[in-house]
Amino acid sequence: MTDAARAGTMAGRIIVVTGATRGIGRATAEALTEAGATVVITGRDGERAERVAKEIGGDVRGHQLDVTDDAAVTAVFKEIAAEHGRIDALVANAGVLESGLVGMIRADHVERMLGTNVAGTIATVQAAARVMTRKKSGAIVLLASIVGERGSAGQTAYAASKAAVASVARSAAKELGPRGIRVNAVAPGLIETDLIKDLPTDVIERRVAETSLRRLGRPEDVARVIRFLLSDDAAFVTGQVLGVDGGLVL
Ligand code: NAD
Repeated sequence: MTDAARAGTMAGRIIVVTGATRGIGRATAEALTEAGATVVITGRDGERAERVAKEIGGDVRGHQLDVTDDAAVTAVFKEIAAEHGRIDALVANAGVLESGLVGMIRADHVERMLGTNVAGTIATVQAAARVMTRKKSGAIVLLASIVGERGSAGQTAYAASKAAVASVARSAAKELGPRGIRVNAVAPGLIETDLIKDLPTDVIERRVAETSLRRLGRPEDVARVIRFLLSDDAAFVTGQVLGVDGGLVL
């Protein structure tokens, strides 16, 4: 297949990416736009979402959405579906990371990790699935993490939230498969974004040394795998959690 043909593989698809004003979400919106999709990027700051949509160019719209606001999630997905007639795919990317040793963890910390990463993911999956069910077709990718599978000292609440996300992918895939909706997750290793900017340098260096490919991941490394999972090339793939970690062994 030529690059030109490959670039057209998502033509006409309406795809929502949450938390997409930077990092992996933004790179995913860019990769999907290159492939011809109409992308709706959402972020907590609506003006920023619109600005980033303009910067990306192509057929990209910006929308304000805090994924922890259940009522807003329902309303925004209804609005997007009404405007475009359907939603073909969702990338539930919005997430937060706060580190905290077991002895220091407080209830509000756990609530923030689970509220955004788990409840926010479930809310967006639910809202997207309601729309996709009408057409009996759709593809969803969630953002899990290698630390959800393997654990990480100092990240107990975050790792637990990401293990839950992988579990959401497997259960939602079982439930939504008969309605033509595929649900998968990616489990990135350490990716160079704002999310990891507060991690100590020695932790990052150790992780790179533990990574077979001996480098940090880039947002586009994850974005391209998400694009694959959303594409028809992955038409018979569902309920999977795919590592995008350069061979990181924790
Ligand atoms: P990032 O901090 O650059 O991006 C996260 C995005 O989510 C931001 O735009 C942020 O504003 C948004 N967000 C946070 N809370 C939100 C809310 N309540 N509503 C809407 N948007 C919200 O980090 P990133 O690395 O691009 O992270 C993207 C996803 O990838 C996250 O789910 C993260 O947990 C996951 N992930 C990242 C790494 C990594 O090493 N960077 C590794 C594994 C998994």
